Amino acid sequence: MIGQTNILVIYTGGTIGMVQDPKTMTLRPLTFDILYKYLPVLENFNCTIDFFTFEPLLDSSNMNPDFWIHLGSVIEEKYEDYDGFVVLHGSDTMAYTASALSYMLENLNKPVIFTGSQLPIGMVRTDGRENFINSIEIASAKEIDTPVVPEVAILFENKLYRGNRTSKLNAEHFGAFVSGNYPLLAEVGVHIKYHRNSILKPNFKKLRVHKELDPNIAILKLFPGISPASVEAILNTNGLKAVILETFGAGNAPTAEWFLNNLKKTTDRGIIVFNVTQCKGGSVDMGKYETSAGLGKLGVIGGFDITTESAVTKLMYLLGCGYSMESVKQLLQTSLRGEMTV
Ligand code: ASP
Repeated sequence: MIGQTNILVIYTGGTIGMVQDPKTMTLRPLTFDILYKYLPVLENFNCTIDFFTFEPLLDSSNMNPDFWIHLGSVIEEKYEDYDGFVVLHGSDTMAYTASALSYMLENLNKPVIFTGSQLPIGMVRTDGRENFINSIEIASAKEIDTPVVPEVAILFENKLYRGNRTSKLNAEHFGAFVSGNYPLLAEVGVHIKYHRNSILKPNFKKLRVHKELDPNIAILKLFPGISPASVEAILNTNGLKAVILETFGAGNAPTAEWFLNNLKKTTDRGIIVFNVTQCKGGSVDMGKYETSAGLGKLGVIGGFDITTESAVTKLMYLLGCGYSMESVKQLLQTSLRGEMTV
């Protein structure tokens, strides 16, 4: 039908479709029939909704780069047939998957909206129903035949976030996510208010899906009293190509000689050290304090206001692309998909 809007819902698992096992009382994913049963309203939408279900359905703690590649391939294969995509996914690692897909889907010109819920869809007080319905509405929104949100986003409790700017903040609140360094893309009330200046513009180029991800990275999260043994264990991981140094505040780290020597040995071996703050808001500013001034001299790369989730997936993506280490370092300091403020 001319003008018909087609949405593909990709169901990967997560609480939204889980039920409680009567024997163990733990939550486990069930097939999509369950979701459909609780959402008869789906038939009233002005668009056609098709479903693609992953096998097996996963709690998102079991997600990994192979899964992200599978998800990217499904979107690539179905890209021309649909106007938008809604991905039902567990909230625990949703920020990682959304970030990974934002890098993998180069020249994305259609909405890919991730959502899920804190309570299963079959429960009376579920947040899944609202999240799901709002995501369909946003994925199908167009203006003069152009999608309103042509990017990877997360919809949770009436707020639409840029996917690669989010982190899961709360294990209980319906508003589970935070985007500390980037404004909301839209807010859902009586009307859906789109903040158009914050939404990426379409470039109308052909979609290119990158399907090589290199997992040879690590995170070294600093804490007061961290021992040389644990720092050395991480920095000497076999096959390591890059390490995210999760620093304090504006990118600060201990100035102890043993610590800086270990970082120097690491950068001398050609391993990238990427400085990302542990804070959920604000930016790395190497050189602002004495405790970060030395890092730049050792070749540590500043991550501006990127989230850890986005840094992990950006590194896997850039290393997977096979760029030289110099190019990777340069691209780490460039915003590729609106993931950081440079
Ligand atoms: N453990 C669940 C998951 O991430 C939690 C959720 O769906 O929100 O798959």
